[in-house]
Amino acid sequence: MPFEYYSTRSSDTPVSFEQAVIQGLAPDGGLYLPETVSNPPADFLNSWKDLSFQDLAVEIMSLYIPESEVPRADLRSIVEKSYSTFRSKDVTPVIELNKEKQLYLLELFHGPTYAFKDVALQTLGNLFEYFLSRKNANKAPNASDRDVITVIGATSGDTGSAAIYGLRNKKDVNVFILYPTGRISPIQEQQMTSVLDDNVHTVSVPGTFDDCQDNVKTLFADVAFNDKYHVGAVNSINWSRILSQMTYYFKAYFALNTKEKVTFVVPSGNFGDILAGYYAKEMGLPIDLVIATNQNDILYRFLKDGSYSKDPEVHATLSPAMDILVSSNFERFLWHAVYETVAKKNRAEAGKVLNGFMSDLKTKGTFTVPQEVLQKARSIFSAEHATDSDTIDAIRTTYTELLPKYVVDPHTAVGVHAALVMQKADRINTEKVVVLSTAHPAKFSEAVTKALDSESSFNFENDVLPEEFKKMMLAETKKIFANDTSAEEIKRIVTATLGY
Ligand SMILES: *Cc1c(COP(=O)(O)O)cnc(C)c1O
Repeated sequence: MPFEYYSTRSSDTPVSFEQAVIQGLAPDGGLYLPETVSNPPADFLNSWKDLSFQDLAVEIMSLYIPESEVPRADLRSIVEKSYSTFRSKDVTPVIELNKEKQLYLLELFHGPTYAFKDVALQTLGNLFEYFLSRKNANKAPNASDRDVITVIGATSGDTGSAAIYGLRNKKDVNVFILYPTGRISPIQEQQMTSVLDDNVHTVSVPGTFDDCQDNVKTLFADVAFNDKYHVGAVNSINWSRILSQMTYYFKAYFALNTKEKVTFVVPSGNFGDILAGYYAKEMGLPIDLVIATNQNDILYRFLKDGSYSKDPEVHATLSPAMDILVSSNFERFLWHAVYETVAKKNRAEAGKVLNGFMSDLKTKGTFTVPQEVLQKARSIFSAEHATDSDTIDAIRTTYTELLPKYVVDPHTAVGVHAALVMQKADRINTEKVVVLSTAHPAKFSEAVTKALDSESSFNFENDVLPEEFKKMMLAETKKIFANDTSAEEIKRIVTATLGY
């Protein structure tokens, strides 16, 4: 049997890597997991240490993708193509933030949209293209039986542009991104609407982000619509995104040129980024992991007492890409923790326990895990949270003290805050600490300006704004205006735009 993927909520009907990527979510509502955490070669700490980002990505991804599905040479070209769009030759460089504190930043924002989601969405787009072109190889260019994917997503700002740049110009893929009119920043709107490729459609919806999100859910659940358009998701539950993100933990560890353990502090929302770190750790990379959250701190609270409880509503913070009620990918970690403890390595039992958790979450907004599961989680993660004023302070401290004149974005600042607080309280057990820097500061001008306006030496346009953004703000744009917030209206737009 080639390597397969199982849902977190059941033990039967495994799927191939291709199915897991194309479907995104399992039909039972669960998330796809690899059948095992794969082991790298025994001497990987030595044999992989000088590899380029691309070479490492091929080594790591091929542990989870059978050769029979994607031959190594094809995987290599997917990887090369995906990271050719990055502005740094190291793809995800590590910089020293402060020598005395041995603090480092892992800069993940050198992709086309200046946010860490590019690392995963560039590969996801190329995997979609690869699988579709194989299915359509013997069909005429305009044949009606071609396999297609219609990606429909909602964005409150950041994810939409990364998805668009991952999917632009991909054959047999159309992408519709819904966003709330007037509620995303002008830079974010311009980043999406200035992509003029024929297969990219941005839809401005006269409502809130939740209205957009609800529409996406409705369209996914609409069987007839789905049969016709093959709705696809690229949100952070897609396994291939987690897989692509593992590479930079290895790359950063090797960049530090150490034999000691290293702590990674990860600004977290949906738990995708740090979950990749969990897999890296399970694969043998000697690392500790810290979850850094903003005021939406369900993960922080979980580690305190083992109860996973939704807040009544989302707090709007200065780090909006982490404004979540629940962290979808946490389900994957919970599955592993349950499987290894209370389920006694029985897949069916673990699926049953997870089903119970998730149904309680749905009906009661909360569930509590058994002590063994909480202990397991605590043995892997610690957590810290930041208020908006902590975030502002961390941007300022970075600029004035840690690395003079260096500007971090507010999401990264949540991580910097966590690292500083935990170092001070002696809650970090390694000398070196790496904070994942998840976005370029130019994308979040409000928080950055608020933090640094009082610094006489600071000038947003000169110090932060990339030339490319200045040009982009003047570029031609296209967008579709929805007449109302209903799902019917979105369906009408999709049908009218695609013409079938
Ligand atoms: C998405 C995002 C995060 C959170 O990552 P998760 O994988 O959802 O935990 C943090 N920072 C930025 C800038 C993001 O876009």
